[in-house]
Amino acid sequence: MRFADFRSDTITRPTKEMRRFMMDAEVGDDVFGDDPTINRLQKMIADLTGKKAALFVASGTMGNEVCINAHTQPGKEIIVGKESHIFNYECGGPALLSGVQMYPINENNGIITLEQVKSAVRHVDVHYPQTSLICLENTHNRSGGIILPLENIKSISEFAKSNNLKLHLDGARLWNACVATGISLKEYCQYFNSVSLCFSKGLGAPVGSIVVGDKDFIHQVHYYRKVYGGGMRQAGILAAACIYAVENHFPKLEEDHNKAKRFAEAISEIPPVKVDLNTVQTNIVIFDVDIPNFVAEEFLTKLEENGVLMLEIDPNRIRAVTHLDLTDEDVDMAIDVMRNLLK
Ligand SMILES: *Cc1c(COP(=O)(O)O)cnc(C)c1O
Repeated sequence: MRFADFRSDTITRPTKEMRRFMMDAEVGDDVFGDDPTINRLQKMIADLTGKKAALFVASGTMGNEVCINAHTQPGKEIIVGKESHIFNYECGGPALLSGVQMYPINENNGIITLEQVKSAVRHVDVHYPQTSLICLENTHNRSGGIILPLENIKSISEFAKSNNLKLHLDGARLWNACVATGISLKEYCQYFNSVSLCFSKGLGAPVGSIVVGDKDFIHQVHYYRKVYGGGMRQAGILAAACIYAVENHFPKLEEDHNKAKRFAEAISEIPPVKVDLNTVQTNIVIFDVDIPNFVAEEFLTKLEENGVLMLEIDPNRIRAVTHLDLTDEDVDMAIDVMRNLLK
């Protein structure tokens, strides 16, 4: 049975063309800096993001964690969103790996305001930990893939600079924000000391993320990648998939956004479904169902019995994600199944 699989944009499989491109990749030992394809990818992304240097890493989590490590010292405090990936889905990595404490801020629709940042930064006082880093997320996963407004980013960036704080962006899906707004990677990245980006989400590569920043910073990050066990050898074969993904799949993200929008609009007309269409800005749709004692898990089982896969994001909220491997027919089918189940 074919499933219409909306669980995540991570489920995409490398296409035939991508596999061919991987097969032909020149490789070398990257721990010696000898892999031409990894070097090409790093140069390509540094140029695209307007940063001086880039480092290929195994995953988005590794990308965020090595950056936090390089920006901080044990005992410092970092400001994060309460709904962020770093706070929720990285196994407490900042505490485990960097020895820092996280100060979570309640975002409103994924957005942390400058005022919230200001009031979270610690004053100089012998009782307090010292704030050293602020982390933002764009697009914002748990808020339905919303895009951070440039003005918001700018204001926090200026504040960080003038207060000697570092600013990191979890840009796992920054690609989606660029395609949806027309704002370039360079424009977004200039406001951050470091950015991590994923190739294995909407771009459809099987493995890989990258971090960008200035030369000294990336040099530091390189040490942490090694100590985390992330020094890879002939991984150019993976970097090739990422190059292919950026060149061929990056522009196609718009199709994912159109599918998400169409799906969200259709289900918003099913009476008990509650979806805030304002948050459907990229490839993620989060909804709940307003019926007494609704349990997401039970509804997901019914969807699955009808060939549709989604994930629960809270006990009563469901997340649906569109991606390369999800066809228009899959979207139609999911809409039909939801209509039938909620009739
Ligand atoms: C997926 C994701 C990551 C990285 O997750 P990995 O599973 O380590 O690849 C980081 N941040 C956000 C917002 C994500 O959605």
